[in-house]
Amino acid sequence: MLPHRNIMSILSDRINNLSESATLKMTKLGRELAAKGVNVISLSVGEPDFNTPEHVKEAAKKALDDNFTRYSPVPGYPDLRQAIVNKLKAENNLDYDISQIVVSTGAKQSLSNVILTLINPGDEVIIPTPYWVSYSEMVTLAEGKSVFINTSIESDFKITPAQLEAAITPKSKLFMFSSPNNPTGTVYSKDELAALAKVFEKHPNIFILSDEIYEHINFVDQHESIAQFPSIKDRVIIVNGFSKAFAMTGWRLGYIAASKEIAAANDKLQGQTTSGTCSIAQRAGIVAYEQGLDTVNEMKKAFARRRQLVYDLLKDIPGVKTNLPEGAFYFFPEISSFFGKKDADGNIIKNSSDLALYLLNVGHVATVGGDSFGNDNYIRLSYAASDESLVEALRRIKEALGNLR
Ligand code: PMP
Ligand code: GLU
Repeated sequence: MLPHRNIMSILSDRINNLSESATLKMTKLGRELAAKGVNVISLSVGEPDFNTPEHVKEAAKKALDDNFTRYSPVPGYPDLRQAIVNKLKAENNLDYDISQIVVSTGAKQSLSNVILTLINPGDEVIIPTPYWVSYSEMVTLAEGKSVFINTSIESDFKITPAQLEAAITPKSKLFMFSSPNNPTGTVYSKDELAALAKVFEKHPNIFILSDEIYEHINFVDQHESIAQFPSIKDRVIIVNGFSKAFAMTGWRLGYIAASKEIAAANDKLQGQTTSGTCSIAQRAGIVAYEQGLDTVNEMKKAFARRRQLVYDLLKDIPGVKTNLPEGAFYFFPEISSFFGKKDADGNIIKNSSDLALYLLNVGHVATVGGDSFGNDNYIRLSYAASDESLVEALRRIKEALGNLR
């Protein structure tokens, strides 16, 4: 134990000003309740409920046998970076060279690296809401300022070029977004991305961080990257990884594709912080990319079925408003009609976090309040769970919400 001083006075301002990740917190609370013997259904953490494909696991075993157990090059093994270059060409028709790829300990580290690489104190980062919980906190860590563009379910959570233009100031340095989006599942079409790219053409000092981690979980079309527009490609930093497409969340493998200069800067940062990511995960990543998308497409079929299942069940709950997400594996329904209502003990539901805690403690379903995604009128449900669990979870949610007065 530390000596009896106020812990806040010991920790850095950086950490004191940082919020805990709401996705991870709700997942932890769900696990704690389950450890007490409660049958909790977790729709909180966003991770595929599938196992890593066998051929990827085999590649990791072989990597061990082949003694890939030493430090790897900081930006990743050259053959993994070449496999990523090949993937970007074959799947996205984008030209990169391996000097433009930096492999990391997950897309999360890549996002954080890019922000630390570009943002000085006071620089503005434009983020459409809702956004993935960690975006704004990473900006805070870098002492940047998040500037939010609000959207709602009525516009399918999409921003317009006019909204983007209005958010830009002389201090704007970076725009960051995900498509398919976490937490809404929203997917920007090629035309919509082209219209945003036109705005960026007029503002040559703004970089664009394009988080494409859900690219393969898209139910409407092929994936479109904002990096496809040559006029802005140099300023686009693609972030992607293996967690979602190959059910490899625990392996910690992600990457950026960017201009040579930004890649070199990320390489330098990683060289002083984490070094190259796990050698075994990297060898497995090569095989994942080289063997193609069969397993991803199988997963996608299951997600498509569950999306329809959850959509039908959510629409049937009075007071809940939902749209049909086009990608990823989340729903982000509007639930503000429950604010001001009381639970059986007389506690008032004041916001989305209260509602998420109520659903956990009373309904035994773990979700995440929309406030940490930047929109308090919503909650996030992950449907990366079995069909039976989803049916039972939605039954419990309906019952618990129906008991609020
Ligand atoms: N971006 C988004 C939008 C995410 O939902 C996640 C969560 N997996 C990440 C990045 C981080 O992914 P990784 O597991 O590769 O760190
Ligand atoms: N990206 C996942 C989510 O949104 C994983 C948890 C996390 O890292 O926040 O739930």
